[in-house]
Amino acid sequence: MKRIIFATSNPNKLREIRQIFDDPEVEILSLKEAGIHADIVEDGTTFEENACIKAGAVSRLTGELVLADDSGLEVDYLDRAPGVYSARFMGEETPYSVKNQFIIDQLRDAEGEKRSARFVCAIAAAFPDGRTLVTRGTIEGRIAYEPAGMNGFGYDPIVFVPEFGMTTGEMEPEQKNAISHRGKALRQMRELLKKAQ
Ligand code: IMP
Repeated sequence: MKRIIFATSNPNKLREIRQIFDDPEVEILSLKEAGIHADIVEDGTTFEENACIKAGAVSRLTGELVLADDSGLEVDYLDRAPGVYSARFMGEETPYSVKNQFIIDQLRDAEGEKRSARFVCAIAAAFPDGRTLVTRGTIEGRIAYEPAGMNGFGYDPIVFVPEFGMTTGEMEPEQKNAISHRGKALRQMRELLKKAQ
C-alpha cells in the first residue's frame, strides 16, 4: 500500500482527492491523520510556488511523498487579484457575501469579455529525495452581475461559466468536481505520479 500525505486539513479537499485517486493501493492521509502539526508560511507569489512550499516543508518533516495544493480566483479586470491572496482578501474573517459584492462593485464599468476570471489550482508533489512535480488546472468564467447559487463555497456564487450558463455556486457538487480547477490539476498529478514512481 502506497501512502501519500495531502497537506491540508480541509475535509472537502480530502474528499475530492480521495474520489479522484480512487485506488485501493493508495492510502491518502490528511496532516492530522499523519500526526503532523505544521505551521507553514505561504509567502510565494504564484499558486505553484505556494503549493511547492507546503508540499516541500511537510515532505522534509516526514520523509514521505507529500501533495499540497494552492488555489484562488483571478479577475483579469483587477490585474488578476485576489489571486494567491484569495483566502486573505479583505481579511480571513470577512464573509464571502461581502467580498463577492465588493468584486462585483469593482467591475461596475466592465462589460462582456472584460469580466473574464478563472479559478486556478496548483498541485505540487514533493518526494523524499527532493524532487518535485507541479500541475495546474483552471475553470474559465466571467464575474457575474449578481451572486447566484447556494452550492460550493467562497467565490463560487460570482463565477459564471458560459458553457454551463450558470455560476459554479449553482452547480451540483459532482458537476463542479468534474470540471473544477482542483479536479483537473489532481487528475494530471495522478497521471504524472503513475509515471514517476
Ligand atoms: P487555499 O487554496 O486553501 O489557500 O484557498 C484558496 C481560496 O481561494 C479559498 O479560500 C477561496 O476563497 C478561493 N477558492 C479556491 N477554490 C475555490 C472554489 O472552487 N470556489 C470558490 N472559491 C475558491
